[in-house]
Amino acid sequence: MLVFSLRAVNKICVKDNNTGWRVLRGLIIFFVLGYTGVFYYLCKQSDLAISDVIFCIIMFSGGGFVVLVTRLSLMSLLKVEKLVINERSNALHDSLTGLPNRQYLMNSLSHHVDVGLPFSLLLIDLNRFKQVNDALGHYYGDLLLIEVGKSVSEHLPDDATLFRLGGDEFAVIVTQVELAQVQHTINAIHQALEKAFCIESYDLLVGASVGLSHYPSYASEIGQLLQQADIAMYSSKKLATLYTTYDHSLETNAAEKVNISALLKRAIEQQEFELWYQPIINLRDNSLYGVEALIRWPRPDGSYTPPSVFINIAEQTTLINQITGWVMQQVAKDVEHFESLGLSLCIHLNLSAKDLQDPTLINKSVSLVNGNHSSQKIMFEITESAMMTNVAQAKDAMTQITAAGGAFSIDDFGTGFSSLELLRDLPVTQIKIDGSFINSIHHSDADLAIVKSVIFLSQHLNCNVVAEGVENSETATLLASLGCDLAQGYYYSKPMPMSSFAHYIQVQQSMSTAV
Ligand code: C2E
Ligand code: CA
Ligand code: CA
Repeated sequence: MLVFSLRAVNKICVKDNNTGWRVLRGLIIFFVLGYTGVFYYLCKQSDLAISDVIFCIIMFSGGGFVVLVTRLSLMSLLKVEKLVINERSNALHDSLTGLPNRQYLMNSLSHHVDVGLPFSLLLIDLNRFKQVNDALGHYYGDLLLIEVGKSVSEHLPDDATLFRLGGDEFAVIVTQVELAQVQHTINAIHQALEKAFCIESYDLLVGASVGLSHYPSYASEIGQLLQQADIAMYSSKKLATLYTTYDHSLETNAAEKVNISALLKRAIEQQEFELWYQPIINLRDNSLYGVEALIRWPRPDGSYTPPSVFINIAEQTTLINQITGWVMQQVAKDVEHFESLGLSLCIHLNLSAKDLQDPTLINKSVSLVNGNHSSQKIMFEITESAMMTNVAQAKDAMTQITAAGGAFSIDDFGTGFSSLELLRDLPVTQIKIDGSFINSIHHSDADLAIVKSVIFLSQHLNCNVVAEGVENSETATLLASLGCDLAQGYYYSKPMPMSSFAHYIQVQQSMSTAV
């Protein structure tokens, strides 16, 4: 038994350096020798005294005791060891998808850098994931992430490892820098996301934006490598490319973004903006129905920074709320101006997702509508994705503003995650079909079908329809024949400053008198 317990103590000594175990091993060996001596002595005796038998039983029980203690100690040690291994694995794996996590990625990157072999880092951000999460809730969002993780892991080649960094962000380390090999991995990622994921009763489709950087040819240390892949990933998302390789010029864009944010703050403080208006025309009689207020930010050289550049940046901070606040203040002033021109218009202004989440701005919208005692109406334009950021909150804000007399139009309809549920549940009275469908209705049957369907849908939902981006008379005529109510675009007029509006009206009136 003592020899048997020696095996357990030997295993313990391998796992634990504590000298106590070595002393115990020495004692057991000593006892084994002692027992052998006693056994030899007893064998030499011609007959055994009762006291010798009792002595042997005690020694035997002692042996049993040692076996029990050493076996139990070994079992406890193995259990603790297993717990530690599990714990370590949990700390390095994502609990939702089971994939290696951010910490694991950092460890792997350090290891690769220590080894010194070149490799590539891909940062992946899912497209449309946020809409799924917002529309269906975190439960479906989580199930979708699990399926995405599984599918991408299955498609990846052997030289690539997938990590989940959190949210809808993933990373892949590829032990290759050859473009063809890395492209093979990127194609595999896109293939993995090609088909819709069937999550319970929903078919959910997500895409991916991928940013690529290499070690050591692009970045010589981990922080820089991650930052480069991140910048490339954002560019891929913005340009809707399959992937973007890091390039120094992208960094200039990131720096420019920081610069624009700083300049925007100053522009807000010093009220550097202008509010221009673009006419919206009634297609039934070509009369002026209303105007859309579009912000303009003049540069010192007389040119303008396009809203598509600075609105996006402002939307990433609360600067957008201040900008919308300024627009509302300006519209309140311009209402008087339109009134003085004898017009009765619907004045459209654009709201961003964050505006509907800001109680101060909701109050400002209500005051704008309430305080407007002229014959001008106020219409707020908001995109589907902005409404979907938080449907309950959007509904609440929209209901308050509608109760005060404002109305809502869905902007850029067809480009977002078009949800009929939104049309049914939210107080919307108008749909603006995005310009990308309008310009091509003459040569794309699919776009024509979409425009016809949206007009049909709107009519049955008691909403009116605006076609955006109308650039020629053929498009205007076709839209009118399809039953589209309103049109806006360069064909009628480009956006113009308030100061040009009186002239525009004069020209329109003289033209209609001439007709
Ligand atoms: P949007 O709300 O879809 O505005 C329509 C955009 O299309 C305007 O660009 C307008 O100038 C342009 N546009 C009008 N007709 C035509 C046409 O026939 N052809 C083409 N190619 N374009 C046409 P803009 O003024 O550069 O504004 C771009 C976007 O910036 C707007 O898109 C809107 O999303 C945002 N934006 C502009 N002003 C504001 C604002 O005051 N607040 C907020 N939150 N966003 C604004
Ligand atoms: Ca708009
Ligand atoms: Ca639009």
